[in-house]
Amino acid sequence: MTLPINLPDIRSRAAAAFIGLAVGDALGAPVEFMTAGEIAAKYGILSEIAGGGWLRLKPGQVTDDTEMSLCAARAIVSAGGWSLEGIAGEFAAWLRSKPVDVGDTCRRGIRNFMLKGVLETPFNQWDGGNGAAMRMLPTALFTLGDDGLLERCAVEQARLTHNHPLSDAACIALGRLVHLSLLGASKPRLRREAERLIAAHPTFAFDPYRGLATGYVVDTMQTVFHHFFRGRTFEECLVGTVNQGGDADTTGAICGMLAGAFYGMESIPQRWLKKMDRRVMDEISELSERLIVLSPAFRE
Ligand code: MN
Ligand code: MN
Repeated sequence: MTLPINLPDIRSRAAAAFIGLAVGDALGAPVEFMTAGEIAAKYGILSEIAGGGWLRLKPGQVTDDTEMSLCAARAIVSAGGWSLEGIAGEFAAWLRSKPVDVGDTCRRGIRNFMLKGVLETPFNQWDGGNGAAMRMLPTALFTLGDDGLLERCAVEQARLTHNHPLSDAACIALGRLVHLSLLGASKPRLRREAERLIAAHPTFAFDPYRGLATGYVVDTMQTVFHHFFRGRTFEECLVGTVNQGGDADTTGAICGMLAGAFYGMESIPQRWLKKMDRRVMDEISELSERLIVLSPAFRE
């Protein structure tokens, strides 16, 4: 990596990425499964953390995207290093706790671990959902400074529940984009990284944008890329993303982690932060700090 290393700035961006993820989840969840037209009819433009939606959430409540990310983060931090068994164990404890929402593919993979100890779900052509990509952030923070470690850990964590080349590719690309953002890379530099994914898998091309924001990882990444590269602030990126509807909490979470890392803590609107659960925010801040200091970039 040729960018200069500024450790205090990276620490702060790491926390902003994780908080951005939770904020994006909470902003998008009330409009999950709505179309862009339905959102426009109900809200005009949704730009506040509203609560409600099909899960009847409290304003600021987060869903599986944040909760599974917290599971992965807790496992890595408590092991003091990479522990796939630890992550699977946290997912299992979370599933037993009867979470407010859990995707079918995630549930199947976690149950296979619980019943048979399986740590890699077999290839399945229907596993191209976004459930592995949405929880990539802790792995990205933990692997900062080592691209090979990122690739290995990204795929391992993904295949606990999703075994599909497009999911794997999206997870690795998101990890790289987070790494570059933490190091202060420019948007054109990040765009080149997105183009690298598209060169390998042209289906991720997002310009012209097709406007699909489903839970298919390709649609999810196109939506995040379109709004992340067009937006000029954290708020613009997030509002654009969630107003697309569809899997809005997950596109919101993924865009939030990128935009948080890129724009930094100061960019996250205070009025959104005030809606978030204090305890969740405190745990996120502590875990992101502990993950980043475990990374190769900090251990050299
Ligand atoms: Mn969710
Ligand atoms: Mn979702």
